[in-house]
Amino acid sequence: MFEQQVALFTIFGGTGDLAKRKLYPSLFRLYRKGHLQEHFAIIGTARREWTDDYYREIVAESLTSLTPTEEELADFTSHFYYQSHNVNDTDHYIHLKKLATELDERYQLKGNRIFYLAMAPNFFGTIVNHLESEKIITESGYNRVIIEKPFGTDYASAEKLNEEIRAVFAEDQIFRIDHYLGKEMIQNISAVRFGNNIFESLWNNRYIENIQVTLAEDLGVEERGGYYDQSGALKDMVQNHILQVVALLAMEVPNLFSEKSIREEKIKALNAIRLYDEEEANRCFVRGQYTAGNVGTQSYKGYLEEENVETQSRTETFVAGKFLIDNFRWQGVPFYVRTGKQMTTKAARINVVFKPTPVNIFRDEVTCVKNNQLPQNVLTIYIQPTEGFSLTLNGKEIGPGFDINPVKLDYRNTTEMVENSPEAYEKLLLDALNGDATNFTHWDEVAQSWRIVDVIRAAWDQNTDPIPTYAAGTMGPKEAFDLIEKDGHEWVWRPDDWYRENNLLS
Ligand code: NAD
Repeated sequence: MFEQQVALFTIFGGTGDLAKRKLYPSLFRLYRKGHLQEHFAIIGTARREWTDDYYREIVAESLTSLTPTEEELADFTSHFYYQSHNVNDTDHYIHLKKLATELDERYQLKGNRIFYLAMAPNFFGTIVNHLESEKIITESGYNRVIIEKPFGTDYASAEKLNEEIRAVFAEDQIFRIDHYLGKEMIQNISAVRFGNNIFESLWNNRYIENIQVTLAEDLGVEERGGYYDQSGALKDMVQNHILQVVALLAMEVPNLFSEKSIREEKIKALNAIRLYDEEEANRCFVRGQYTAGNVGTQSYKGYLEEENVETQSRTETFVAGKFLIDNFRWQGVPFYVRTGKQMTTKAARINVVFKPTPVNIFRDEVTCVKNNQLPQNVLTIYIQPTEGFSLTLNGKEIGPGFDINPVKLDYRNTTEMVENSPEAYEKLLLDALNGDATNFTHWDEVAQSWRIVDVIRAAWDQNTDPIPTYAAGTMGPKEAFDLIEKDGHEWVWRPDDWYRENNLLS
């Protein structure tokens, strides 16, 4: 049995989508595993007038897929309390404080408090100010605040938001969620790199030709059109998830696998990413917007037909680009990234492409075909939906001749293991309970990521060329392929080829 955690959670936005889809199921898993037992309580707050009983029913409903027993359900949900609360109304915090104090006594919570801000960021400043002014922050235990993305919409707004939060909480009390960092294989990047000498010794510009990071979604904006149209793929995905993955791939070896050392190295890696001028940004980054398309018999509408999207919108639903890292280790190695909505399939993976052998000694001397190069070794890290990694190596084909063919060493966690592995939010909540911020983003990382992205955004805002388009179901606009091909490389992962070969995609 694990050490039992002792804490009061206050969830601002307790009736929201995130709370229902992610937070309640994750808290339940922590309960089932014994991390949360008697000494925990949860206050859900939002504007609606709900009773505790009704709130508990909603929490219970959110757990259906986890098939809890009657007994588990009754015990777990009995720790949930609802407080109708408008975050802008100072009087409401008085009730919140009273309830928090009562629950602290009833469950002996030692003054340990976690405030989860599952609400739009424009409310964060007022919430944290009230937590301090109304003395909901305790003096006896720990006080931590968990914040959802997006953290600002550019460097200036992120800095303002950060100042508001820092006026009340110290950096080590702030847990900025990037749920990608809770994923098993993202955490495994460090294990693969630093636990295997064969990789870490080759992890540099002498042996690696390029690195490719793809985070593809196969859905459109669905009901989030209003939010997305203001944001776009660059701010929604590149500023946070993609740059975090790039930092983990590019960072130097930390002295120790500890929060402090990893953060220091990630920040150094982000600081070494080249800040583009306008010309470089336009050359190294391309955007795209999906138009209507078909995959098999399924038809998808275009972005401009989506609900709550401006009919003339220039918001990008796809980004592909190249980051360059100006340090000894990575000089000359492009880090290609791409992400988008309504792509061929939903998946996240990293391809590390090693340089070809200096000479192909198996080449056909008679014909001496130009570019007669052996296939390059590729290390692929699968993040989702499967988790694992593979390595392609060249071997001799069985038979009389001497034909070299790539073979793939493949290690994927079984579906059963993936299903049983803790969800990202579960891991992150447990980390926050333990006060471990390794898998959260430090302000310095957020700030540098915005600086990197802001220059690209500014270049695009100056550029009035039509936005390239891609049909729903494809892997992005032609420009995304040109971007990498003009460097003499190609995207390793091309799921759309299979769909085309099978006449499922035109
Ligand atoms: P939501 O709109 O479903 O929920 C917002 C919550 O805030 C609701 O409970 C609502 O009642 C409450 N609220 C709004 N105004 C209020 C006020 N004045 N006083 C008190 N409560 C008020 O949003 P969501 O999808 O749960 O997202 C919450 C946050 O998490 C957002 O910042 C979002 O960007 C972020 N996020 C959500 C997801 C997701 O999967 N839903 C994923 C990543 C990040």
